[in-house]
Amino acid sequence: MNLFYKTIVVLIFCFSCTMGSFPLLAASDNPKADEIFEKIINGHGTSDSHSQMLSELETLISRSDTPRRMRLNALKCWEPDISNNQVINAAIAYADQWLQHDSMAPYPKLKLELLLCKSWYLEQKNEVEIAMQGYNQAVKQAYALEDNRLIADARSIRGELFSFQGNFSAALEDLITAQHLYENQELSYWSNYNLGSIATSYRRFGDPQNAIRYFEQQKQAHLKRGEIDIATGIETEIGFSYEELGEYEKALEKHLKVYRAGEQKKLAEFDMAIFALNVAAALLRLERTQEALQYLQQAKPHIASDQIGFYGELNIYLAQAYLNTSKLELAFKHVVLAEKSHRKSKNQRGEERALFIKSQILGENQDWQAAYDTQRQLFETHKALDAKQESRRTAEIRGRFNSDKMEQENLQLLEYKRLKEQEHIITQQNKYLQVAVLLLALVIIIILGLYLLKQFRRTRTLEALALTDHLTQLPNRRHIYVRGEKEFAKSKANHTDFSIILFDADHFKKVNDILGHDAGDNVLVKLAQLSASMMRKGDMVGRIGGEEFLILLRETPLNQAQIIAERLVTTIANENLDDIDPGFRVTISAGVAAIDGQTNFKELMSRADQALYEAKEAGRNCVKRG
Ligand code: GH3
Ligand code: MG
Ligand code: MG
Repeated sequence: MNLFYKTIVVLIFCFSCTMGSFPLLAASDNPKADEIFEKIINGHGTSDSHSQMLSELETLISRSDTPRRMRLNALKCWEPDISNNQVINAAIAYADQWLQHDSMAPYPKLKLELLLCKSWYLEQKNEVEIAMQGYNQAVKQAYALEDNRLIADARSIRGELFSFQGNFSAALEDLITAQHLYENQELSYWSNYNLGSIATSYRRFGDPQNAIRYFEQQKQAHLKRGEIDIATGIETEIGFSYEELGEYEKALEKHLKVYRAGEQKKLAEFDMAIFALNVAAALLRLERTQEALQYLQQAKPHIASDQIGFYGELNIYLAQAYLNTSKLELAFKHVVLAEKSHRKSKNQRGEERALFIKSQILGENQDWQAAYDTQRQLFETHKALDAKQESRRTAEIRGRFNSDKMEQENLQLLEYKRLKEQEHIITQQNKYLQVAVLLLALVIIIILGLYLLKQFRRTRTLEALALTDHLTQLPNRRHIYVRGEKEFAKSKANHTDFSIILFDADHFKKVNDILGHDAGDNVLVKLAQLSASMMRKGDMVGRIGGEEFLILLRETPLNQAQIIAERLVTTIANENLDDIDPGFRVTISAGVAAIDGQTNFKELMSRADQALYEAKEAGRNCVKRG
């Protein structure tokens, strides 16, 4: 795994390790600090915010808040810069100091995290055996403490080391157990990270196809979380997997992508040098030597000889490139450096590659004796490697058997996760659907309501129209007769007074003849307005015929009705109708009748009609009572 990627991921990982048992330690309220701790446990830490978060915690946690202080102390063990040996030594010393500190004694979980941190730094220093002992101890203690988070963290870290060492069955057992535990605790960030370790193991195990599948999944998960840096780092792993598949074009594409992303982000020169190495390796495979050389020259100043692994690789690539371009002297110089570096780091495979190139260079140089010696050396190394390979192969066969089973389990796990996500999406969709249905129902109700309201108004209008005289807007004959019958029945039952006035315009035919029908209409409107305006609120005026009107007067005796009728006759006779025709006047004749022993409204009406007839007979423009 390249350093850049590893640095970021490990930093975040370790942040979370130190978080594991936090809730148990909470002494008093400190929501702000707890929020930062929470952020870290969920995997939100990035290298940018690392020191910022630490210093923020430093100010937020008081000296007397021992549980949080201790947690912070454990957290501070993790340092992002692992390219520097001094930092590594300082971190180990720091971890030791706190592991032995009395005030750390009551916090076994924090001590376990410090042990993990210390062992991890030892691993970075190539002290692999001591690191493994630390991890074994950490796994044991995590089980004793029955802390699932710590078990997952310890087994995940140990699984990575197993994988690095080529112990694949042990690696997958650890990593898949950790995977289950992360999934169960819904620590999606960490389960994704761990998925990457599983993928790396598959790659190392010689199954690059499966590895690419896992890496792609993991990459998507990180992209979904917006963690572009980590996703870019995974791209390198995919590139390595393609190299192993022999698909160098694809590998080059991936490494270039990472390189360019690094350029854009203006990453540290060391990180860029490692990316350049990866690009150069793919270019060499494609026999694009000149381009490879450019990348190698760029990397060279930033990879020091104490970076033994990278230094060895750099020199092998340089030697290969110079050999390709027949610069044998330069090639020889670099291959010797590579050989030394790989021998120092006990990287026999690297040493074997260096010796192979060296013998080619010597052969080209026609230095037959040296070439022969190198071949012999190569043969010895190869034999040693073969023996190792043999025992490893046995382990691999065993590992393969177990890993097939685990692969199956893992697929089930992924499927389960996928189904859970699907379920979540469906629930969400259902919610939207419910809201949509509700909104739709609301819209329908509103439309229906508006429609009903309109319908109701229409009916009311139609009803009103059916009861109203179109010309005068007074109640029509049917309407006023119905009311008249009602009032008659009421006053008869209650023994109250009830009178009616029936009036008719005089010589109206003549009005029409002289002024025209339209003016006649206007006169009728005028008569309606005048009569209606002169009545009380509870009274009713209606038009019952062409120029004949009826007035209902509730609780009104005959005398009073006569007075009202006379006032009406006089008023109309005196009404100025110049607007209809200058100097024009109209008169009416009225008949009045009051309830008095009649059996129905019709009888009362014919009384009034009789009286009206008498008024006409009497010369018009007067009132008669029936
Ligand atoms: P009187 O009642 O004084 O005996 O004489 P009159 O001319 O009013 O007699 P009659 O009742 O026979 O005539 C009523 C006239 O009213 C007939 C018709 O031309 C006119 N008339 C009826 N309805 C309307 C109407 O809606 N508009 C107009 N302009 N004239 C109408
Ligand atoms: Mg008339
Ligand atoms: Mg008439």
